[in-house]
Amino acid sequence: MSTKVLGMSPKVATINYILVIIFSQVKPAPTIYSFTNKDYTEFGKSLNFLLDFLYFLINNVDMDYFISEEQRKLKETAARIAQEKIAPQRRELDKLDKFPHEILRELAENGMFKTFIPKDYGGSSSSTLDLCLAVEEIARVCAGVGTAYAATALAATPIIFFGNESQKSKYLSKIAEGTIASYGLTESQAGSDVAGIQTKAVKDRDSYIINGGKQFITNGGEAEIYVVFASTNPKRGARGLSAFIVEKDTPGFSFGKLEDKLGIRSAYTRELIFEDCKVSSSNILSKEGFGFIVAMRTFDYTRPGVAALSVGVAQGALDEVMKYREIISFERTQFMIAELTAKVEAARAFVYAAARHIDSGAKNISRYSAMSKLFASDMAMEVTSKAVEIFGLSGCSEDYPVAKMFRDAKITQIYEGTNEIQKAVIGRELTR
Ligand SMILES: Cc1cc2nc3c(=O)[nH]c(=O)nc-3n(C[C@H](O)[C@H](O)[C@H](O)COP(=O)(O)OP(=O)(O)OC[C@H]3O[C@@H](n4cnc5c(N)ncnc54)[C@H](O)[C@@H]3O)c2cc1C
Repeated sequence: MSTKVLGMSPKVATINYILVIIFSQVKPAPTIYSFTNKDYTEFGKSLNFLLDFLYFLINNVDMDYFISEEQRKLKETAARIAQEKIAPQRRELDKLDKFPHEILRELAENGMFKTFIPKDYGGSSSSTLDLCLAVEEIARVCAGVGTAYAATALAATPIIFFGNESQKSKYLSKIAEGTIASYGLTESQAGSDVAGIQTKAVKDRDSYIINGGKQFITNGGEAEIYVVFASTNPKRGARGLSAFIVEKDTPGFSFGKLEDKLGIRSAYTRELIFEDCKVSSSNILSKEGFGFIVAMRTFDYTRPGVAALSVGVAQGALDEVMKYREIISFERTQFMIAELTAKVEAARAFVYAAARHIDSGAKNISRYSAMSKLFASDMAMEVTSKAVEIFGLSGCSEDYPVAKMFRDAKITQIYEGTNEIQKAVIGRELTR
């Protein structure tokens, strides 16, 4: 399906293109500032302005990734909500550490939570590419909101792939309607080394009693549904882990410290505390002892989401740079922008390809998923860092969004496994 060009149909865009070809025969190739050339007559100036406008339209045609009509609409809806609802509040959300409940509700009302839930459980697709398209557009304006949204998809994923029928119908249908969810794996002694999890779940007839704690959990305290990993057999390390669905109001489950973070500040991260928290055996995902597989397989499906979020942040930083013509008039800056734009597009193409590979039902997804996250998050760090540089001292001021984007981008290299861990996953797969 062809992409619309600034609201024009492909037909109108083509006519404009032909006009440009014709006009370009009667004037020298225009530059960004050619309409200010003093030698032109008034008519020449108007003509030049028109030509620049037409060149602008032609040059702003997005790359055609052959997404479906539904996916185009999804992308447009996410972009519209991001511009209308998130952009005006982005600074306040970041500065005042406000969790974006209202915005998440708006996204849910527009069907955005259905995109990562299968149709049988009240969703609309459950396609990785759909999730990537939505996350990218949200993160292009605010990666904090993007993270709060994507973390719900992260928690829904193990229920989709490892839940039984009754778990799926109970929890996925709620998430499709906008119930926020959260994924609790990390502990103070177990970040990259998941086998080091100390939280324990002890079987007690038809229940498990959970004791321990999690740290740095996105949507902690704000979500209603939690997927939590605990050891049911400490002697077996990673093979002794199990995954549980825990509801927020379960007795013995509470929340600790709200982290004062570097970036994505509106996506709250909190400690989860379990003190004799009794969870029914019917809330175990897959089987006892399969928690490590549940956790790792989940990341295989969700890491392209972090990669798409990284593309969104980087594109957002470039959008900001392009708004200021005075700073992009230097030839060296234009070279930098050219290079950065190429990198963003390369990452986007890679992320969409990885997402499509996953959506095809392929089994060998770990390495592509890890590579997309590694490549796109490193790219986002480079692009946002250069964007700060291009803005000069203004780039260091919170009056301009690039400072926030730079802080947000750093985190994409860390969560859902640091980039060193992505390299370990890729290396292990390549040398198997
Ligand atoms: C903003 C934010 C939100 C988060 N949200 C969640 C969430 O919702 N749920 C959740 O469960 N977790 C969450 N996390 C935790 C995140 O997934 C972990 O921070 C991450 O897995 C790294 O763990 P760590 O911080 O303990 O680092 P460590 O594991 O202590 O690693 C420290 C350093 O050592 C390196 N390292 C460690 N092991 C190896 C190795 N084997 N080979 C090479 N290098 C290695 C790492 O790359 C890193 O540079 C979040 C983190 C952040 C920052």
